[in-house]
Amino acid sequence: MHVLKFGGTSVANSTNIKLITDIFLQHPAAQKIVVVSAFSGITDQLIACGQLAEAGDERYAEVIKGIEKRHLDTTRELLPVSNQSACLSVVKQLCNELETICEGVFSLQELSSRSKDRIVSFGELLSSKIISGYLQAIGHAHTWLDSRQLIKTDSQFGNAAVVFAVTNENIRQSIAQSQDALFIAPGFIASNEHNLTTTLGRGGSDYTAAIYAAALQAEALEIWTDVSGMMTADPRWVSNAKPLPAISYQEAMELSHFGAKVIYPPTIQPAMQMKIPVWIKNSFAAQDHGTVIQHETNSDNGFIRGISSISNISLISLEGSGMIGIPGFSKRLFQALANEKINVILITQGSSEHSICVGIHAADIQRASAAVNAAFEIEIAGKKVEPVAVESDLSIVALVGDQMKSHPGISGQMFSALGRNGINVRAIAQGSSEKNISAVIAARDVKKAVNVLHESFFEEVQKQLNLFVVGVGNVGRRLLDQLQQQQAFLAEQLRMQVRVVGVANSRQMYFDDKGVDLSNWKHLLEENGEAQTPDTLVQAIVSRNLRNSVFVDITASDVVAGMYEPLLRKSIAVVACNKIAAASALNHYKKLKSLAREFNTSFLFETNVGAGLPVIGTLNDLVKSGDVIHKIEAVLSGTLNFVFNNYDGSRPFAAVVRQAQEEGYTEPDPRLDLGGTDVMRKILILSREAGYALEMDDITNNGFLPASCYEGSVDNFYSEMEKHEAHFAGLLQGAQANGCKLKFVASFEHGKASVGLRHIAPESDFYHLYGKDNIVLYYTQRYPEQPLVVKGAGAGADVTASGVFADIMRVIH
Ligand code: ADP
Ligand code: ASP
Ligand code: MG
Repeated sequence: MHVLKFGGTSVANSTNIKLITDIFLQHPAAQKIVVVSAFSGITDQLIACGQLAEAGDERYAEVIKGIEKRHLDTTRELLPVSNQSACLSVVKQLCNELETICEGVFSLQELSSRSKDRIVSFGELLSSKIISGYLQAIGHAHTWLDSRQLIKTDSQFGNAAVVFAVTNENIRQSIAQSQDALFIAPGFIASNEHNLTTTLGRGGSDYTAAIYAAALQAEALEIWTDVSGMMTADPRWVSNAKPLPAISYQEAMELSHFGAKVIYPPTIQPAMQMKIPVWIKNSFAAQDHGTVIQHETNSDNGFIRGISSISNISLISLEGSGMIGIPGFSKRLFQALANEKINVILITQGSSEHSICVGIHAADIQRASAAVNAAFEIEIAGKKVEPVAVESDLSIVALVGDQMKSHPGISGQMFSALGRNGINVRAIAQGSSEKNISAVIAARDVKKAVNVLHESFFEEVQKQLNLFVVGVGNVGRRLLDQLQQQQAFLAEQLRMQVRVVGVANSRQMYFDDKGVDLSNWKHLLEENGEAQTPDTLVQAIVSRNLRNSVFVDITASDVVAGMYEPLLRKSIAVVACNKIAAASALNHYKKLKSLAREFNTSFLFETNVGAGLPVIGTLNDLVKSGDVIHKIEAVLSGTLNFVFNNYDGSRPFAAVVRQAQEEGYTEPDPRLDLGGTDVMRKILILSREAGYALEMDDITNNGFLPASCYEGSVDNFYSEMEKHEAHFAGLLQGAQANGCKLKFVASFEHGKASVGLRHIAPESDFYHLYGKDNIVLYYTQRYPEQPLVVKGAGAGADVTASGVFADIMRVIH
């Protein structure tokens, strides 16, 4: 005997019914019971129908008409015209009965759970009768089993408990009496001792099939549905979810209890008791292997089986000094909940025994808190215990696997993955069997959490990085080009899926949660982008709540730098090419760094100094490994190098500066470079990263520009430089007279920093520095005489973009 159950989607319409009929008719077993659900969506419609009638809303009748039409149409499509009439009249008769009951509800405006069960039972009655009619029409002998008469339950309508002794006997007898090899039975429905219709809980057709299978000691129970097995996570949420070839009964129970809807949790118990293997198969891909649920599983397939979640959870906590050491406290709590028939999903108790926290369905929260408050009325009045505290809008995520107990570090991995993504954990429970670890989190985070955990435990193969790139000037464009070019390489070689989900310029922003098409970003931003303000941009990024999010600032804007704080607080990493934040007031710089630590994310700005050169990274490595920085000497301005390398007296100084600006080496206002501010910011950042507490004001600037150059506009700056050509020529000649070159040098020593123009002699490390090269010398405890040198191109869009790229990669380590 094999029992095959087909779910709502598998019987949703005539095409699907034909498909599954082929499946069960071709099935090789000698004897088969086919259990069916209602057509998909019908149970919900029947419930709605009852509720409308109860509320005195006449539209219930339209709902019934719709239900009737769908079943009549399906019958007409399935059966040959000459054989339709009997089946059509069965459908009509059932729908009439349904209407009569609903009329009763409507006139009384009262819907008892008993009438509700009666109403929803028509879903499975209709579907099973139509399939039976179809088999008859195409000439297949079979028996329609009335599950209501065979499966006996108590009178808990809506979620009745099966009385197994009577049920098993009924099933065995009726099968024994029949000569047929094929049986069709409605799922979900049963009856109590007074023959009143009951139901087995939502999703209960799976359970019906298990009851038949256990009673008859079937060789296998097959649950045919719309996915190719029990998956590592709900495939509607996690696109990379994979079917599990085999899992144990315990694992299936844990996964389904914690929300994997593909099998109704009570289903496993009867099958497990009889050691019947349970298959989950796909009606729409019958050749797929599916999942087999049985006693032993092969632990070679890894030790975490799946991730599931339950929504609509509330927590109640009972807390108070009066609880410590008093036995029976928790018993009273659970008794109070049990008396109300409230299902407890999760329990945690601090080791201090000072508080107990219980997770329940949100729908039960009123009754639960009233019951618990009543049970502890005396202690609450005596202030030994606080009144029950309630928290709502929560969900549970759970990690399930039999072998977890033999692998240390799993909860560490779980909570650090959640933490890195800013998902706050409200309560944790680990079953004593250690087959699952579950965490209570905010409902708004649950989809992200399931994805984060799936990525962490099942997809070393593919980590996803979600980037928001703000600033699409020279560097931003190059970065987008580089990202596009490297996407395939990163996916193949590093198993990273790097997607740009948002781009913005100073006016507009454009998002695509599946990844902006990088070959067309410019057009998309300009044509389809929406206007942005700092608030709407931050809001749009935060509300996406995507895992491994990185905000990439390639602007020179203080407004954009102002966005870091709210983003870091949401665990969104910040990669800045923009120097403003790292060079801002010391307190602000420190705050951003500590926010990154507190929210488990990164604030990286390697390109603030020396573009793509590993200047800050090298410094960080020295400091982390315990070295002490004594002195830094550096030439850090690409602009000033360009200017002094090209200024040989043959052209005016102003003309060389203009060329530098035209070739894109300078800030929009070249005085920031020429006046030394840009170099001051850089040495400030280096000294801070070296561990010293400096402000911009602490840095001495031995500038070389005449004071009048700072007055007025950029145009004025050029005319002032022209007026002062003699001053610049004098600087050059002074150096040349000593056999030296001019370089603008930044230095840091004894806790003090300064910048200024210096004469560089041929023996200096700085003498042979050409083009836009930068150089940094670190004198440290470990490099006392011969410094550690970092040297190379310190400006240019391509190298800067690649430095930003490297920071982005560092975020995920
Ligand atoms: P049926 O109507 O056949 O009983 P259900 O809708 O009750 O089907 O269950 C199948 C659905 O369960 C799938 O379509 C899938 O979206 C959902 N599901 C949730 N978690 C899982 C999981 N871990 N593996 C497979 N499916 C899951
Ligand atoms: N039709 C019922 C429901 O939707 C039972 C089932 O499909 O398993 O809950
Ligand atoms: Mg189901």
